[in-house]
Amino acid sequence: MIATTEKIEYGKEIIEFELLQEDRKTLSIEVLPTTKIKVKAPQNKNKQDIIKKVKNKAKWITKQKRYFVDNYKKPDKKKYVSGECFRYLGKQYLLKVIKSDIDSVKLIKGYLIVEYNLKTPAKLINKWYKDKALSTYEKELDKCFQQFIPYNIVKPSLKIRKLTKRWGSYNQNSNTITMNIETIKTNKDCIDYVIYHELCHSLYFSHKRDFYNLLESKCKNWKNLKMKLEQSSI
Ligand SMILES: [Zn+2]
Repeated sequence: MIATTEKIEYGKEIIEFELLQEDRKTLSIEVLPTTKIKVKAPQNKNKQDIIKKVKNKAKWITKQKRYFVDNYKKPDKKKYVSGECFRYLGKQYLLKVIKSDIDSVKLIKGYLIVEYNLKTPAKLINKWYKDKALSTYEKELDKCFQQFIPYNIVKPSLKIRKLTKRWGSYNQNSNTITMNIETIKTNKDCIDYVIYHELCHSLYFSHKRDFYNLLESKCKNWKNLKMKLEQSSI
């Protein structure tokens, strides 16, 4: 399977799409609720022909995109009050906020229990997510990196940040993987997929065939995990 990023021009707009060439007979164009565009085409089809076909569908694509921009609901802004749902490692937890004489956050039997005194529940929960994200990503990076030892590369350092559109990224100059704090809300397999993806970038800068061959060899299930991530909103 080959995956590349391509673009077409439509009026004044540049439409970027991900092109997956794989073992299939027909061409399919899909606009995801996140407004990402995915084109699947037969492996041996000429790229210029594919781009031409996508161009013919540009009107439909922009219409779909506009629909999702107007109708796709971002997760509700949290109020940090009891009864709200919080996600952590792929599971949902009900928030229980208790005024107390200590500051603490705990997961107990499906509940995210926040006792607060000096700090606000929002501050405590965000700090808790950050701590959990950092320790989980460190552990998963150590685990995933084991598979990269034969390549004689230096283990990237890890940073966490709130990224708006990506689950993770890799900086070649500083050999650093930056993970989105929000990725801690997805399950461990998805987190591992993001880490594998970024680790593959330490060997291949762009999403070329070699990159995907390597990713496939480290994370067989990556296509499903990627889809899972794309369907959950950041
Ligand atoms: Zn990448």
